[in-house]
Amino acid sequence: MPVTLGYAEPLDEDFDKECFPSKIGGRPRWLDPTRPLSADQVQCDECASPMAMLMQLYAPEDEPAEAFHRMLYVFICRNGSCHKANAKRCMRVVRSQLPEDNAVYTAQECEINEVHKGEEEEEEEEEEEDGFSWSLAESVKPASMCAVCGLSGSKACSKCHSQFYCSRAHQVADWDAGHRGQCGHTHPQAPTSAAYARKLQRLLYPEHVIVSEEDDDVGHLGESNNNDDDDDDEASDDDGEDNEGIKPEDMALVPLTDERVEDSEVDVDRAFLLFQRRIQKSPDQVIRYTRSSESSEPLFVSDAGKPEAHADVPDCELCGAAREFEFQIMPQMLNNLSIDSADPTSVDWGTLLVYTCPRSCSGTGEASAYACEVVCRQNFSSQGIGEKFVRALHGDDSGITKQIESLRV
Ligand SMILES: [Zn+2]
Ligand SMILES: [Zn+2]
Ligand SMILES: [Zn+2]
Ligand SMILES: [Zn+2]
Repeated sequence: MPVTLGYAEPLDEDFDKECFPSKIGGRPRWLDPTRPLSADQVQCDECASPMAMLMQLYAPEDEPAEAFHRMLYVFICRNGSCHKANAKRCMRVVRSQLPEDNAVYTAQECEINEVHKGEEEEEEEEEEEDGFSWSLAESVKPASMCAVCGLSGSKACSKCHSQFYCSRAHQVADWDAGHRGQCGHTHPQAPTSAAYARKLQRLLYPEHVIVSEEDDDVGHLGESNNNDDDDDDEASDDDGEDNEGIKPEDMALVPLTDERVEDSEVDVDRAFLLFQRRIQKSPDQVIRYTRSSESSEPLFVSDAGKPEAHADVPDCELCGAAREFEFQIMPQMLNNLSIDSADPTSVDWGTLLVYTCPRSCSGTGEASAYACEVVCRQNFSSQGIGEKFVRALHGDDSGITKQIESLRV
């Protein structure tokens, strides 16, 4: 099962020019900037605020042709107390896509050194391949977007009419952040002050680029026997629900200092053990992407609270296909969000599992620029893992990666 891992990296200078970025935080970069998402599609059911973009992921498909460009956007409410509720109320995933032939982007042929898109059946043109670089077509006029969050800006500042907002809440936020001092100035394009920009940035999650890499760990354990860096000898499948290979020693994941954890003493959560082992080699992974592999399964963080088909993962409302697991957001991403993990009400999760329509269907008509998909949250179990783990999890103020690392034996 090929797994692609995503890591968070700082932005580089060229990032702004990227048409199809995968990133954490910041304002959304819409695949079709003439049709930004409207705030009512990502309004928190708990507090009624517009949610903030957690991340966007460019995940194009060969089939169908409409999904030639394909972007998934994950939104969550920034208000941590809303996350006590069902994840469906405070998190959303939407999918946006465009065919290769579209009015938004123009492609220029160019030479690229790096083979960009997957399977090249071409004979042996190893040298330099002709590729395409994309840019926004000149005729494209981006729609008005909220000055704060980048959602569709359906409301204008009533004084200057040159600043747009998704909601009253963001108009107020912008006014307080500094628009008060800028509003009505003759040059609406005047550069905003750094302090103003900083205050607005605080309403968004910090921006990072997501870079991806194949998880060699999996092939390694699954296909060959030369696993030299593991402390065990089982080379059998490590990627499924079947985790026969786990031996009692492996279960000793709770901070082991001088005592061993007895099987009988702690009712160990096997899914968590597997989770723990699988991320050990790449503890910084923020995304695990497994779409289009046969029977792709998430890496659950617990035996408890696995999403169930239909009940938790309904079929696609547009075409009726059973949604399939596509990727998951790891707890390590919390470290990139500048949230206070010591705050008991802060946003938290074990993992976020994203399920999407396997057909990448598009609805009919104009109304369907964004298809809703499904995100499920799974929390670390407080039972099963053992009291010591729970203490380690909540007992210090470091980020969750550190918590997990501290559990390494
Ligand atoms: Zn909320
Ligand atoms: Zn807004
Ligand atoms: Zn104004
Ligand atoms: Zn569908």
